[in-house]
Amino acid sequence: MTLILNGVAASQAIKEQIKQTVTQEREKPHLVVVLVGDNLASEVYVKNKEKSCKEVGFMSSVKRYDSTISQEALFKELDKLNNDKDIHGIIVQLPLPNHINANEIIDHIAPHKDVDGFHPLNVGNLHRGQSSFVSATPLGILRLLEFYSIDVVSKHVVVVGRSNIVGKPIAALLLNANATVTITHSKTKNLMHHTKQADILIVAVGIKQLITEEYVKEGVVIVDVGIHRNDDGTLCGDVHPSAYALSSAYSPVPKGVGPMTIAALLLNTLQAFQERGR
Ligand code: NAP
Repeated sequence: MTLILNGVAASQAIKEQIKQTVTQEREKPHLVVVLVGDNLASEVYVKNKEKSCKEVGFMSSVKRYDSTISQEALFKELDKLNNDKDIHGIIVQLPLPNHINANEIIDHIAPHKDVDGFHPLNVGNLHRGQSSFVSATPLGILRLLEFYSIDVVSKHVVVVGRSNIVGKPIAALLLNANATVTITHSKTKNLMHHTKQADILIVAVGIKQLITEEYVKEGVVIVDVGIHRNDDGTLCGDVHPSAYALSSAYSPVPKGVGPMTIAALLLNTLQAFQERGR
């Protein structure tokens, strides 16, 4: 029987634990989201983050700036947030307007408040196998596998995609957890040859239902990171249902990795709060 890796159930369990921890604290974790301009998708993401913070008893604020704000002015705003001891986590919602260099802005966030785990210091620490903030989607995937007691030690994990926010950090995280990891990308020759060897297949490619039954071996565990909207308004992933059918376990889209991403962001914010002043 195929196990469904239900991200809603796993994220609820994590949120419940966070809530219980926070209830015992007099001060509350405070997450600030920096939002530049009026991107509609960003507005939706920010609303979801605020809602989730509320659910677990965190404080959250959104700092809104006009799309014409200069990079220098945004640096100054970040300085204020970095120096405010009542703020524990800072996220800069991407994308930023074209005249602002997103990497330089991320580099300006204090690493101990970088709950998105995008700062080079946190990325470097992850690759050195040291404690750091890990970006939310990869951390959420790891927690999802843990929730369902899927052991990664000595397993061959194949990651499809090498983005800085999913592919590379999930590969590093699983390598640190003693999996054997293969990373594939758009220039990989014979993708199917690699994916067919996976005990655990993590797909973050951004191409609707690319991975069909021909790409997987029987009994594989599939984590489908992709999100795509169908013409009828429903959602689907980077993996075709024919591949799910051969798997021993898979994360569905929706209700798989998506809810775990938010739960992981809350975990990072709690960690930033607990490590404050250290
Ligand atoms: P991305 O930045 O576009 O990266 C896609 C990666 O896939 C790149 O490394 C690219 O290779 C590789 N690729 C493209 N075509 C390929 C092919 N034919 N064969 C093998 N590899 C190929 O995407 P992303 O930000 O990682 O996101 C991936 C998907 O996950 C998207 O659908 C996104 O919406 C979704 N997502 C979901 C969540 C969530 O919370 N559920 C979070 C983040 C992302 P190159 O490097 O060579 O170009």
